[in-house]
Amino acid sequence: MQNKADIIIIGGGVIGSSIAYNLLNDGFTGKVVVFEKDGIYEFASTPRSAGGFRQLYTTAVNIQLSKYSLQIYKNFSKTMAIDEEEVEIDFKQRGYLFLAVDEMMPRFEKHMKLQNENGVNSQLLQKSDLLNIIPELNVEDIAGGLYCSESGYLDPYSVMQGYIRYAKKLGAEYVYDEVSSLLTDQDQIKGVKLADGREYHAPIVVNCAGAWASFLSENANLPLPVVPLPRQIFQFDIEKPLQKYLPLTMDPTGVYFRHEGEKFIAGYAEEIKPKIDFKWRRSDFIDNIWPILANRIENFEKAKIERGWSGLYDFNTKDHNAILGEYPKMKGYFVAFGFSGHGMQQAPAVGKCLSELIRTGRYESLDLTALRVERFEENDLIIEDAIY
Ligand SMILES: Cc1cc2nc3c(=O)[nH]c(=O)nc-3n(C[C@H](O)[C@H](O)[C@H](O)COP(=O)(O)OP(=O)(O)OC[C@H]3O[C@@H](n4cnc5c(N)ncnc54)[C@H](O)[C@@H]3O)c2cc1C
Repeated sequence: MQNKADIIIIGGGVIGSSIAYNLLNDGFTGKVVVFEKDGIYEFASTPRSAGGFRQLYTTAVNIQLSKYSLQIYKNFSKTMAIDEEEVEIDFKQRGYLFLAVDEMMPRFEKHMKLQNENGVNSQLLQKSDLLNIIPELNVEDIAGGLYCSESGYLDPYSVMQGYIRYAKKLGAEYVYDEVSSLLTDQDQIKGVKLADGREYHAPIVVNCAGAWASFLSENANLPLPVVPLPRQIFQFDIEKPLQKYLPLTMDPTGVYFRHEGEKFIAGYAEEIKPKIDFKWRRSDFIDNIWPILANRIENFEKAKIERGWSGLYDFNTKDHNAILGEYPKMKGYFVAFGFSGHGMQQAPAVGKCLSELIRTGRYESLDLTALRVERFEENDLIIEDAIY
């Protein structure tokens, strides 16, 4: 029959496409259909991401997700090559650095111990060490930092395209239409209804619709605490180049910055109401980011803003972490959203582990049970001390 699949994935961003790729790459032989409403990914979060990759988390599950994903990203270009055409994801392992004022240092020391116990080679740096990494850094008010040299940043759009291309090669069908609702029959998922009224049926539906995912779920009476939260990024240039390329650097104020080619990007966790909104405001850079940049690195005093953009976090309002797994009391309905600001870096591990869970009913590579849907009702949240 025509409109039938074995697995339907809603959303063909980095998460949906990583799941599609991993399912087929792991040997799933059924029909996988991915629905994507935005064929050029104009508003998807993935291409609007800052592409930061870090292992500096404070919960074992997030550390494990990043550790696993790091190994995949290190070899991504070659592993995802098709007919010897490699995928250039521009992974710059220039490090990830959290700067700390005095009172943050004991907390960072605790984080480092946990990270080291979980096999991540993070280091607590003193003031003087910081200048070896960023010679121009103003460390007057800074006591030190938490640093991981293996981390860094990559090109999110290319990663997503790498997964899409390979998933298609393995047989995934991408349908560029909008899903308007989930189809259910009592406690079993049945498929999806499209905006044009057509129905597609499948016994398994995976909701990877990012910032739009919770609306679909809520409308089917399957709520989850996730909202769309706008986040801006600004690109700027300076007159006097820095001596070294920057790690992704997080200022104690929450402003982050890194190189983008020979230029720079920066962003911050602004206080803003949840909404779907893609406006970016030059004045936010001038008022809220530039003074912090200029104080931290003298060369940034002459920052010339060139462009900006805004994208959406699929923001989990309860504990800011991914929600993964089958929805209780709705057989066959799987979710993978709520990533907030760190879905890009978790996509390889999430794709692999969801493939295992969907195909075999259990996790094999990593145990991601901690991120289950039920944690909200059970009040067993995953509280991260380092989420921005
Ligand atoms: C400004 C910004 C900076 C970020 N920085 C980082 C970072 O440094 N590091 C990091 O790891 N993460 C970062 N993130 C987060 C990261 O981008 C996301 O967690 C990740 O891209 C989520 O991927 P996704 O596939 O779930 O969502 P998306 O890429 O949004 O994909 C979801 C897809 O679903 C489609 N869709 C939605 N509804 C429907 C429907 N009804 N029918 C059909 N298709 C539908 C959408 O069109 C979209 O293409 C950042 C995000 C933003 C916005």
